[in-house]
Amino acid sequence: GWRSRAAFKLIELDDRFHMIKPGARVVDLGAAPGGWAQVAVKRGAAEVVGVDLLPVDPVPGATIIEGDFNDPDMPDRLTGLLGGRADVVMSDMAPNTTGHAPTDHLRIIGLAELALDFATRILAPDGTFVAKVFQGGSEKQMLADLKRMFTQVRHAKPPASRKESSELYVVATGFRGRDSAEG
Ligand code: SAM
Repeated sequence: GWRSRAAFKLIELDDRFHMIKPGARVVDLGAAPGGWAQVAVKRGAAEVVGVDLLPVDPVPGATIIEGDFNDPDMPDRLTGLLGGRADVVMSDMAPNTTGHAPTDHLRIIGLAELALDFATRILAPDGTFVAKVFQGGSEKQMLADLKRMFTQVRHAKPPASRKESSELYVVATGFRGRDSAEG
């Protein structure tokens, strides 16, 4: 069975956007307890490399390390583990909430921007970036960056995501490269 309710969110996103193709190389940010990694393996990913602050019981077919994605050498560690470019970078990372809304908002956006910066360094051409964002979608600056570097940028709330939660996912497909000037 799936380890998390979150697994169903990725299933629904992938049914709609067809991100995980057979043989895909996938990076899974905020992987615990391993539901998204399970789904990626099940859908034919050839390599799944993930990280979480929390330890994750082994997921056959995936390599998930314990650590903080904010750690300055984490991008290099993940890149080394994957040993090449990624087809999909997916982030379900959510920081612990403080109850102070402006602080929580800044933290969430900070993590998503960090994930995007990493994605634009490791994605292969035509790659996909998926990240959890909140409320009205991506922040203006992040959305502008996404639109410049990907051919298509959409927001989706999978049915498995609770209605009362302001959680939303941004799905950017068709990576064109970091220095793409179009948009
Ligand atoms: N997609 C996962 C699944 O299907 O099992 C669920 C992910 S859960 C909603 C969010 C995770 O993000 C938590 O396990 C949390 O520890 C992790 N997280 C939050 N901040 C992080 C950080 N800075 N570095 C690594 N993981 C982080």
